[in-house]
Amino acid sequence: MGKLLLRNATIVTGNRTVSGCLGTDKGLIQGIWEGDNCPESAREEAEVLDLKGWVILPGVIDAHVHFRDPGMTQKADIGSESRAALLGGVTSFIDMPNTQPPTTDETTLDAKREKARKTSWCHYGFHLGATNGNPDFLRRAAQSPDLRPHFGGIKVFMGSSTGGMLIDRNDILDHIFSIPGKPVLVHCEDENTIRKNLISARLRYGDDIPVWMHPYIRSREACIRSTKRALELASLHGTRLHLLHITTAEELDLIRRAKDKGMSVTAETSANYLWLSENDYLSKGALIKCNPAVKTVGDCAALRHAVLDGTIDTIGSDHAPHLMTEKRNPYMQCPSGMPTLQESLSVMLTVARQEGLSLPRLADLMATGAARIFGIRGRGILAPGMAADLTIVDPAAEFTVSKPAYKCGWSPYEGVTLCGAVRMVFLDGKPVVKDGIVLPGSPNGTALTFDA
Ligand SMILES: [Zn+2]
Repeated sequence: MGKLLLRNATIVTGNRTVSGCLGTDKGLIQGIWEGDNCPESAREEAEVLDLKGWVILPGVIDAHVHFRDPGMTQKADIGSESRAALLGGVTSFIDMPNTQPPTTDETTLDAKREKARKTSWCHYGFHLGATNGNPDFLRRAAQSPDLRPHFGGIKVFMGSSTGGMLIDRNDILDHIFSIPGKPVLVHCEDENTIRKNLISARLRYGDDIPVWMHPYIRSREACIRSTKRALELASLHGTRLHLLHITTAEELDLIRRAKDKGMSVTAETSANYLWLSENDYLSKGALIKCNPAVKTVGDCAALRHAVLDGTIDTIGSDHAPHLMTEKRNPYMQCPSGMPTLQESLSVMLTVARQEGLSLPRLADLMATGAARIFGIRGRGILAPGMAADLTIVDPAAEFTVSKPAYKCGWSPYEGVTLCGAVRMVFLDGKPVVKDGIVLPGSPNGTALTFDA
């Protein structure tokens, strides 16, 4: 593999930025140097690229995607979505278990890993899903030296979503929250609250429920109640808890308090919840119907604040593709979820510009945080000896989002002007994206190793 020397760059390394050059050798970062002060060994036989001051970020690790593979490959598959990932600067993904069949045992995990080995354009990993029937297996998997390195965390749906993996038994929740050794990832929405809200909505609107009712059906109370419950369980069992896609100001307060108490809790939100609010149902309709629902302008502001102050630890896209024909259905038949993996980084770069979020903090939210939480070996930070997964962006470049590369062919961000264009992407030191296209080649992703 050829050596690279990327010079005249702004390099985000840990909690600082360096104006200088970055060298790679054999797929790894060889060194980061101020100005042009690299040793002769870094120049020798290296291809030298002038980055014109562009920013080198660690390749984005998106730890929350739904690639629908296997079982719903008419919507998306690992091949199509991992190509789109690269175009958005994402070099590693961790896929959620609510596929068909769901990823809830060794056989289904192995099948996904094998499919990804053959078809993934970027690095890949998978979470295992909890069901009412598999806590013993999960406990074993979290300890087993053979299985542990092959999955990120244990996903629990404390609220229904695509795939029907809802856990509704208290004894099972106790069992799962007491599993040591892996983060427990929770989708928090209280099912009873949602059911009651849905009954009232149907009494009022019949089968013609307007989509703007979504945040009142899948309400903030449903989120808050469920998050409270997850935090209580985690406090009881000492769980390594990772709360997914947080959407309300009240949940942020609960998380702050839990962190202050020293609980081992981390939190994720998606760029969508920093960008969209209930006002957007007017123009975007069911395209932005997702679970949990996008909420108020006030929640949006609170989430932006929480990204700045560290209450939120990671950004996951929650990339959840559905066909446009499905999204045109009436409320009850319209599936929840939207595809946003390719736009997530640029939305965050735009938010960063608007809110004064520093590049090191952005890199932590987009890559390093996920590497830390899931114990991903050798990736997620720009430092000598780490994999040369590099995402090169021009933070000042404005562009209008056009048709994305997703198999479903649409994004809720089409037509939106963002800043922070992805200029180039390197996977293990090899160029894979340039000028907005995936370079010719074959799927070359490798399996993430989870050591934590
Ligand atoms: Zn999700």
